[in-house]
Amino acid sequence: MTADTTLAQLEQRTAASRIDRASLGHEALIKCDRLVRIFKTEGVEVQALQGLDLLVEHGELMALVGASGSGKSTLMNILAGLDLPSAGSAQVGGHDLLAMDKRARLRYRREVVGFVWQQTARNLLPYLTAAQNVALPMQLSGSGRKRKAERAKRIHDLLTLLGVADCRELRPHQMSGGQQQRTAIAVALANSPTVLLADEPTGELDATTGAEVFSAFRRANEELGTTIVIVTHDQAVANEVRRTVAIRDGRTSSEVLRRTEIDAEGQESVVAREYAMLDSAGRFQLPAEYAAALGMKRRVMLELANDHIGVWPDNEGAPGHSK
Ligand code: ADP
Ligand code: MG
Repeated sequence: MTADTTLAQLEQRTAASRIDRASLGHEALIKCDRLVRIFKTEGVEVQALQGLDLLVEHGELMALVGASGSGKSTLMNILAGLDLPSAGSAQVGGHDLLAMDKRARLRYRREVVGFVWQQTARNLLPYLTAAQNVALPMQLSGSGRKRKAERAKRIHDLLTLLGVADCRELRPHQMSGGQQQRTAIAVALANSPTVLLADEPTGELDATTGAEVFSAFRRANEELGTTIVIVTHDQAVANEVRRTVAIRDGRTSSEVLRRTEIDAEGQESVVAREYAMLDSAGRFQLPAEYAAALGMKRRVMLELANDHIGVWPDNEGAPGHSK
């Protein structure tokens, strides 16, 4: 291969990737592009989000993971329409989260997104029964004008779908933690939101109860087609979804995709593969343990091959880089 053909190929690829990037995420339901959120308290700045990119497709059930303080809740609050980013862009179902006025924001919170928080007490009103808690968001939004019978049927259907039909006349303190969270999912789904956001919804539950609550999310995703984003510390939950995105220092750093493979004997197994996230400027983050294993610091050597890019530590003796 001559240097000219390589260059021509490179130019071709660059052009193709430019087109890719322009159309990237065109169809996505959630689009965050270089999202920044800076908090200022007593003169001290905290950059909770530092240029976060995220795409979520219609109908996805995905998990966000990351160390405490990495910016997960900050992102969820922005997507929920409760907080505003300092810079960047965020769109959910065609709604521009930076451009909505107060009224549009209220409507967005009532009709486009539903949320479930970690603290069970934050999700349900203590003096209302499960059925009344689910009825409340419908009464507050336009669907309050729905016929009473219609509303009662929706409450019944949601509580049944989430496995808490027997709790309909109970108040939160009469239910278990798991029942409260499943009721909270019903409340969040009351107005048929496009997206359901859940911030560590199983954080206060034991493993078995957490698994039950997670399967309630899965049912909502499968039966109602609701797109669901779950922030979790729970590796068991993260292992159950097809895609897990890791956030590090206010940025999406890597993602794990899982798919089921069937071997020659018909045995099913889940294959997980980790990917680094490439932002719109072409940047990506080397996993810290990879960089450490080869002593990579400050800069690395790159080499474009036909179907991959090689990354070498900045020293001599790497392939193709002899003195
Ligand atoms: P996570 O949910 O991943 O644990 P958060 O989004 O809650 O992380 O926090 C990210 C960073 O932003 C942390 O350093 C946190 O202290 C800071 N932070 C979050 N909310 C605020 C706030 N309202 N005021 C000041 N700092 C905040
Ligand atoms: Mg949090």
